[in-house]
Formats: sequence, structure tokens, C-alpha cells
Amino acid sequence: MRPLNTRVFTPEQVSEAAAILRRGGLLGIPTETVYGLGADGLNPDAVKAIFAAKGRPQDNPLILHIPTADWLERYCAEVPPQAYALAERFWPGPLTMILRRRPCVPDVVTAGLDTVGMRCPDHPAARAVLTAAGVPVAAPSGNTSGRPSPTCAAHMLEDMNGKIEGIVDGGPCAVGVESTIIDLTAVPPRLLRPGGVSLEQLRAVLGEVAVDGAVSRPLSAGERPRAPGMKYRHYAPRAPVTVVRGSPGAAAAYIRSQIRPGDGVICFEEFAQEYPGCVVESLGSAADKGEQARRVFAALRSFDATSAVRIWAQCPDEVELGLAVCNRLNKAAGFHIVQLPMDAEQRAGE
Ligand code: AMP
Ligand code: MG
Repeated sequence: MRPLNTRVFTPEQVSEAAAILRRGGLLGIPTETVYGLGADGLNPDAVKAIFAAKGRPQDNPLILHIPTADWLERYCAEVPPQAYALAERFWPGPLTMILRRRPCVPDVVTAGLDTVGMRCPDHPAARAVLTAAGVPVAAPSGNTSGRPSPTCAAHMLEDMNGKIEGIVDGGPCAVGVESTIIDLTAVPPRLLRPGGVSLEQLRAVLGEVAVDGAVSRPLSAGERPRAPGMKYRHYAPRAPVTVVRGSPGAAAAYIRSQIRPGDGVICFEEFAQEYPGCVVESLGSAADKGEQARRVFAALRSFDATSAVRIWAQCPDEVELGLAVCNRLNKAAGFHIVQLPMDAEQRAGE
């Protein structure tokens, strides 16, 4: 691929940026979840270029981004009342719905599936780009395949400078982990990926929601995940990661007992001073899962610029946004997890 001169646009320059999409080019787009790598979702050649720029396997489908829920019926064959109930409550926002697709959606977007992932993002620059482009925008996260997702323009440029025509710098992402994915073609609806809209919030609207096994355990040999992306190693820094689960104090003590000088540690702010001689990345306070979600990808990404040869990570419980933070850390660790005995208080919360 010939290197491109990647232009950085301000949010005031969205109409120029959106013109890139209209002529079939690739554009980095800020959203509230992570930065996305966008192309015209109805142009198969433009969509193919996304896979090439990321080094993304062809069997991993993309999400179509739309400016309003009333675009759903253009691309989805059946839009059940549940979809409108979710859109009413959570759109624009960090929720992707899997629905039956119409034939107008190119195969390259859906990796040949008869379903398509649909999302209406909530970032003023993303919304302005979508409106100006006038097409549904296919966009996965803007990282090189396998690396942590970018949560600011600089991180996306680390991976994509010279490979895309432009990027809109919309500042740091407010949510920090990718969208929640709910499969509405399954009965009951099935959570495929935890994200900024929590399982608890989905259940409040939908009633029963099943949780796909791939959310919290590795796939067994030959098992086919419902979200094809779940089968790939993801979000991983170069050094291997070990997640330590248990009460924050016990996990911190365990990590202290294991570390060697120069190791990397991802920990809650309360414990950041406890690892002298290590490369420490704070996730923010143990109680603040919103901050942990905002910081987790930058923390994982930061180790690639250090000489850390192994990384230890504290992890929140799986309640609310904790499920998404845990999922990203577990996947970065290839599900290499040390589970400490739980104390009475934690057991009561399970
Ligand atoms: P991205 O957010 O970077 O990484 O990629 C989109 C995610 O959505 C991947 O994990 C895909 O496997 C998932 N996805 C997209 N379309 C579908 C679909 N039709 N059915 C199930 N999962 C999907
Ligand atoms: Mg991704």
C-alpha cells in the first residue's frame, strides 16, 4: 500500500473530513467509546481497505454506524420492538444491536453473515461526520488488529499514520471501551460483548438477557463464537499479562509477592505507590469503574514503549461497567488469570 499523508482535522472541519468517506477513503473518527476506522459502509472496496489497514481477518464483521434510529429499516430486514425500546433508552450511545440484514448491506461488512451490527454513536464529531457523509459508516476500532483500541487521536495515529487519509481529533474518549453488543436475533437476547451500556441496564429494558460464554472464558478448541471477533487475541501488549482477581487489597499483596524489578503493573490508584522499581499504570480509584474503563486501553498500550517483559493487572469485580473492564483485561491476558480466594464481603456481592 502506498503511504498516505494522514491529515488531522479539527471537529470544525468535519465536512472536509466527511468528503473523504464519500469518495471511498478511510477516516479516523472519534466516538464516545474508542476511535473508529471508518469507510462508506455501502462501498465494498472502501470497506475492504479497512481490513487491509488494520490487518484484520476477513471473517470478522464490522459495525455500521448511523446518525439516527430511523435509518435502521434501510439496512435491517426485521427491526423488532425491542430494538426501538433499546434505541429510545440508549441511543445515541455505546450500544450495538445485531439484527437481520437487508441485501443492500455488502457481504464484506457482515463477513457473509445474515445479520449486521448497528450503532448510533454519541460524540458530536462522529454525529456531524455521519450526517455530512450521508451514508452508513462501517467502522471497527482504529487500532492495528490485536493491539489495544485507541482512546485518543495520538494512539490511533501510532497505528494508522500513513495508512488512512485523515483523522478527526475529537479529544479523549468519554467511555473508553468499545460498545456493548447485544444480539437481538437470539431468544432470549444475548450479550456478545460487554461495554458502556451494562448488562444490568439491558435487563432493565429487555428482561431476560443471556450472556455469551465468550464474554468471560476462553473459547474451547473448535468452538465458534457468535461475535466472530471474540475468537481473536485482542487488546494485548507485547509482554504477557496476568490478571489477579480478588479483593483489591489481596490482589495488590499477591502482585507485590510476585513482582521483579522492571515488571509492569496495572493497578488501582490506591496501590500505585506499592511497586517501587516497576513500571506502574494506574487505572484510577478502585471504586471508579468509569475511570477504569477510560484508562484501561491506554494503560495496556503504554507498556509497548517500555522494557517490561511481563505485566500484572488488578481487575474490578464484574458488576456494571466492571464486566467490560474485566473482559478487556482478561482478553489482553489471553485469560491468564490468578483467582484469589474471595473474602466474605465480595462473596455477598456475587
Ligand atoms: P470492533 O468493535 O473493532 O472491534 O469490531 C466489531 C465487533 O462486532 C467484532 O467483535 C465483531 O465480531 C462484532 N460483530 C460485528 N457484526 C456482527 C454480527 N453481525 N454478528 C455478531 N458479531 C458482530
Ligand atoms: Mg476492535
